[in-house]
Amino acid sequence: MSAHPIIRLKSREGRRAIAGAPWVFSNEIDMDARTKSLVPGTLVNVVRADGNDLGTGYFNPKSLIAVRLLDPVADAEIGDAFFASHFARALSRRAALFPTHCYRLVHAEGDGLPGLTIDRFGTIFVVQVTTAGMESLIDPMLDALDEVVSPDCVILRNDASSRTLEGLESYVRAARGGIPDRITLNENGVRYFADAASGQKTGWYFDQRDNRAFMAALAKGRCVLDCHSYTGGFGLLAAHAGATHVTCVDSSAPALALASAAADANSLVGKVKFTKADVFDELERLAAANTTFDIVIADPPPFVKSRKDLEAGARAYRKLARLAASVTAANGYLLLASCSHNMPHDRFLEECAIGIARAGRHASNIRDAGAGPDHPAHSMLPETAYLKSIVFVLD
Ligand code: SAH
Repeated sequence: MSAHPIIRLKSREGRRAIAGAPWVFSNEIDMDARTKSLVPGTLVNVVRADGNDLGTGYFNPKSLIAVRLLDPVADAEIGDAFFASHFARALSRRAALFPTHCYRLVHAEGDGLPGLTIDRFGTIFVVQVTTAGMESLIDPMLDALDEVVSPDCVILRNDASSRTLEGLESYVRAARGGIPDRITLNENGVRYFADAASGQKTGWYFDQRDNRAFMAALAKGRCVLDCHSYTGGFGLLAAHAGATHVTCVDSSAPALALASAAADANSLVGKVKFTKADVFDELERLAAANTTFDIVIADPPPFVKSRKDLEAGARAYRKLARLAASVTAANGYLLLASCSHNMPHDRFLEECAIGIARAGRHASNIRDAGAGPDHPAHSMLPETAYLKSIVFVLD
């Protein structure tokens, strides 16, 4: 007798899941009336058409990804012990990678915990839950976090727009401790500030850590334009590494205020300028004035939010590449990034290349990187490797 309701794969369906991917799509399962009526987030056993078990997962009849698998064993108990063992494994992997306690501790499927991301800022943990299944597991998840890392503060940043697709409400609350005004973090030797309650995502983008270090290593004696700077991730590190001057451009005044405070805290005042503007407008203005920079970084928000936006998003990436190339000095470096899951790597590279060529420039690609190692991509889900961060050197 099974404890969890059973979800059956249709015959000849679910090949990716059978091969080891943790997702089962709604068109791959027998969606009978009983299955359809299961409450979103219910724990289920998935059974192959040949009767063999595929394991335990959670189910949402409203979601295109109907089941996300959690454990290869049927009827697995998904409680404190399950989360504690995953957290302990994630923690030891990060401890091997980073000298500080600032990193992404849990990266959803890449850490075996679909629907859950946790960013760590010392003893402060910012949690994002994006699926109904993970929402119904918040209590054991928090208990396990207490057990493994003894947090002073846990903030639930459950306000991602993708939650509506799962039928979840939007909220932000402290599950442990209170919400601090401002979080201090250390990355690549620079102190930064993050707003965990109302900043973007969890307040900080750990994914670009290595790419920031790469650009900073080029920055000594060069001038830098950091477009979409947010709270200063690239720009402040470049200034710290010896850039002659840095201009950070972003449309968000609160993000620039945190960047400016961090410039103070790192004794970089006078080296970094902050411009609140639309990046496209600002690049056109700089190009019209023939202003150039030795290093240009463009790390925009996702232009391809869903697959139907692919063509419009691709045009926006191309335009950004063209404008950014037009303000890059001869022999200058240009980093172009895309964090859109729905923008394939090769297409992004192609749009960057076309944009740069349309600015009348020749370029060589010297680095083609993604997110840092605290953002593991599931080996069977290439789409979870979402970040493209490509560096060109321009003639
Ligand atoms: N480079 C940053 C992260 C960038 S996130 C880092 O290293 O942390 C994307 C940023 O783009 C956000 O701060 C957002 O406010 C900004 N943004 C979005 N659209 C913009 C626009 N049209 N012009 C200027 N900034 C924009």
